[in-house]
Amino acid sequence: MVPPNASPWESRVWRDELARAYRKPEELLSALDLPCEPELDASIERGFSTLVPRTFAAKMRPGVRADPLLRQVLPDVAERADKQGFTTDPLAEQAATVTGNLVQKYDGRALLITTPGCAVHCRYCFRRHFPYDEHRPGTLDLAMAAIEADVSLSEVILSGGDPLLLPDDALTKIIRRLDSFPHLRRLRIHTRLPIVLPQRITAQLLDLLGSCRADIVVVVHSNHAQELDDVTQRAFAALRQTGLWLLNQSVLLRGVNDTIEAQVDLQSATFAQGVLPYYLHLPDPIAGTHHFFVDEQAGQALHREMQAKLPGYLVPRLVKEIAGEPNKLIVSSKD
Ligand code: SF4
Repeated sequence: MVPPNASPWESRVWRDELARAYRKPEELLSALDLPCEPELDASIERGFSTLVPRTFAAKMRPGVRADPLLRQVLPDVAERADKQGFTTDPLAEQAATVTGNLVQKYDGRALLITTPGCAVHCRYCFRRHFPYDEHRPGTLDLAMAAIEADVSLSEVILSGGDPLLLPDDALTKIIRRLDSFPHLRRLRIHTRLPIVLPQRITAQLLDLLGSCRADIVVVVHSNHAQELDDVTQRAFAALRQTGLWLLNQSVLLRGVNDTIEAQVDLQSATFAQGVLPYYLHLPDPIAGTHHFFVDEQAGQALHREMQAKLPGYLVPRLVKEIAGEPNKLIVSSKD
């Protein structure tokens, strides 16, 4: 049942919005009153095309080329450069694949790749080179059988791509099936949709999430306070009313949020919308993303400043992932 005070959107709204998304750098630049840059052609996208919902673009400042939201989604000539140590699969996700679209890196938790699609293409994405063709949703039955048989699992993480890009009917099928496995205590959804396309929060989705036996944890992905506005507030308010948990993870990105001001604003803004800080990820060394890279030492120094400026409950854990480790590594701030 949809909570009485929630204000979800109709299903067609987010689909229409997605159909109208910017798919060419020049369209986005023009909408922001910025000059066309002929060098931003398809060859620099390296197979990872431009995709930016208008709802997200509307939060960018017109005429500002260095806008932190624009920087996250506009292809950059720097993507062409191959840098030593930056590879297509630094987290060795291929090696951690259990079956088809099921990946298990850590005890008790498994990650289900539900769809290759996203509503936005973040240029720094750690899965921008992921071979989704080898992890098709067609293998869903195999993954479900593996999850059902493995009673050591207590949590399944719906990932992608972005699981909320699936239509409500397809998502309902997956979540209802997982919810029927009694050993799963939590279902976690990793999504950027409430930030980049908040209209995805439909009545059917709220009804689904609010009626699960398992605890539902929604981990959103916001990197900058400018991404949060009245529309995201409405989406989060509706989600919260279903009784689920809302957390935010972000990536520490050069030129986007690598200052103390940006971090204080981000953590305060997410909390003000009912979302608790969870992880601040050091960026992974992904091919074509070195221009976003912040090294561990700089990350630790910034994190130390955050601890001085923010109450403890607003300081996310600074983490990095190392292939083969039994968990994400908390990168403590060294004095
Ligand atoms: S939404 Fe997440 S998975 Fe999709 S492109 Fe952005 S970072 Fe990658």
